[in-house]
Amino acid sequence: MAHDEFAIIERYFSDIGDPAGNAVLGVGDDAAVVDVAPGHQLVVSMDTLLGGIHFPVDTCPADIAYKALAVNLSDLAAMAASPAWFLLSLTLPENDPNWLSQFSIGLRQTADQFNLRLIGGDTCRGELSITIQIAGLVPSGRFVTRRQARAGDLILVSGELGNAGLGLAQKQGEVDLPGDLQSRCLLALDRPQPRLELIPFLREFASAAIDISDGLQGDLAHVLKASGCGASILRDAIPVNSWIEQQQAYHYALGAGDDYEICCCVPASHRGEIENWNLHHPECRLTEIGEVTESGYVLEQGERLIDLTNSQGYRHFD
Ligand code: ADP
Ligand code: MG
Repeated sequence: MAHDEFAIIERYFSDIGDPAGNAVLGVGDDAAVVDVAPGHQLVVSMDTLLGGIHFPVDTCPADIAYKALAVNLSDLAAMAASPAWFLLSLTLPENDPNWLSQFSIGLRQTADQFNLRLIGGDTCRGELSITIQIAGLVPSGRFVTRRQARAGDLILVSGELGNAGLGLAQKQGEVDLPGDLQSRCLLALDRPQPRLELIPFLREFASAAIDISDGLQGDLAHVLKASGCGASILRDAIPVNSWIEQQQAYHYALGAGDDYEICCCVPASHRGEIENWNLHHPECRLTEIGEVTESGYVLEQGERLIDLTNSQGYRHFD
């Protein structure tokens, strides 16, 4: 890529996102410089999407750009941090102007949608890989972790689970969904909505939170481990679409990845605030699916109790 590299950066990535804001120095120098508002902490995260693993290499470049940003935004939402800047490390098999222009248009639209500025990155040649490092701000001490869930807390999830996994199954020809559900599930897979609207609620009421990237079962297990607690969840309380309910195909909600909804724990004393949230945010409903316990991890399914203690999400090295 060598001599093309600077032309690529200049042409496609030098001016993405709002230049006003608190980036003092963005793309073009040896490093970026940002201002952090007094009384705030910087929250930083990074995620990589690999062609052929996280998405088929022929995926529409604008969808790849969207998803690369959305999965990072979802991590910030789970920490209750407001997004501010991002860096992009791009590895490309070739200098393909058509691909690059669609990718940068998608990236620009997404950055504008979420009020983010691209402040730097790196560009190399190799197998297609997109790494985004994102940074957000939170009033000091108001971030939310996986570590503070306590026995008795309610376990909540936003939205509907399993749609992205079902979308993938549809793409891979494993299921044949009716038309409107099909488009909804494909949209959930390609254009997940990071739940940034939950940030104020999480700051105020959540003891712990995680974004569901690898399936509810495994991601909730991370919270329980970090908090030193157990949980009991009700299978039939998990919010799913009517197809999953009718087919009893709850594994899409429990084990398939890519939903990017939020799972959070909230002390039961805040039930009223949860109801109030749901009243005002019907498109981002929080559904109670169970409660945090002292120990153990069980799924109640009718009369049956299924032990989830050894549950695991998707692992790259298995
Ligand atoms: P260096 O050789 O000092 O690492 P680079 O040539 O990698 O510098 O990058 C030059 C400038 O362009 C830096 O400001 C860097 O952050 C930015 N940059 C490089 N690649 C990208 C990219 N894909 N997106 C945004 N900025 C980039
Ligand atoms: Mg560099």
